[in-house]
Amino acid sequence: MQVNFRFPRVLAWEVTRRCPMKCRHCRAAAADFAYDGELTTGECLKVIDSLASRAGEPPAPMVIWTGGEPMSRPDLAELVRAAKARGIRSVMAPCGALVTDERLAELKDAGIMACSFSIDGPDAESHDSFRGVQGAFEKVKAAISSARRVGMPFQVNATVTKLNSRRLGEIRDLAVSLGASKLDLFFLVTVGRGKALAPLAVSDEETQRILAWMKSVKEIPVKATCCPSGPTGCLGGRGFAFLSHTGALQTCGFVEKPCGSVKEHGFDFRATIATASNPLGESGNCRNVAAM
Ligand code: SF4
Repeated sequence: MQVNFRFPRVLAWEVTRRCPMKCRHCRAAAADFAYDGELTTGECLKVIDSLASRAGEPPAPMVIWTGGEPMSRPDLAELVRAAKARGIRSVMAPCGALVTDERLAELKDAGIMACSFSIDGPDAESHDSFRGVQGAFEKVKAAISSARRVGMPFQVNATVTKLNSRRLGEIRDLAVSLGASKLDLFFLVTVGRGKALAPLAVSDEETQRILAWMKSVKEIPVKATCCPSGPTGCLGGRGFAFLSHTGALQTCGFVEKPCGSVKEHGFDFRATIATASNPLGESGNCRNVAAM
């Protein structure tokens, strides 16, 4: 049975796939070159126009500007500013490598309300080896220092694997000491480069242990994302949507089943989603959908 793709409250927009990191789990297998077919500034501005609230329709979603590395787009501040002018709230998920005080202050002024920074291990050795780049740990800590200097609120994200599942307490302590507002644990989805990490996905039993541990954490709010057995379950296509670097609509970044393209609808997001159905069905998720 065809299930409608619900208009999202949150839209993760991969404005570019270009990225200087080489993360082992990257669903996009992103690399540091200019990708073909990415939306131009003008095309992005049309998408932003279409996201704005309209009478009788669902309100504009909050946009998570993501990638790839969203800051590798030189026009990012222009896009965020255009979104703000249309009443669209913005947050951003940079890897940290391109953060400077000036650039972050410019993006804050444009309308970015908060950032997330990923820390996948509590020290340089564990984080750098997961991110595939030596010095990544120092870079993300420097980016966080920038965020603190310019007054940009931030949360810490961590991808949970067998590599760090017994070190989440250390990651929590680090997030607290760095001044994060929240710790968001992303449970590994084995897509893209992450396919090779399948043996590192935590077991169901370990997932339950982590969910119980999360409840005991008092120092900082902790949330589970992409943990279908967790409290929020899977929001793909049911409150959450993903727009790819080439304008493809997906339920989330991990389910590479395009449900339409803004390129085929005059860069109108609302028109694109109006004809889309959700391949996950009523209650499915990436873990139980075939042909991922
Ligand atoms: S299908 Fe659901 S649980 Fe899986 S990656 Fe997408 S949003 Fe997360």
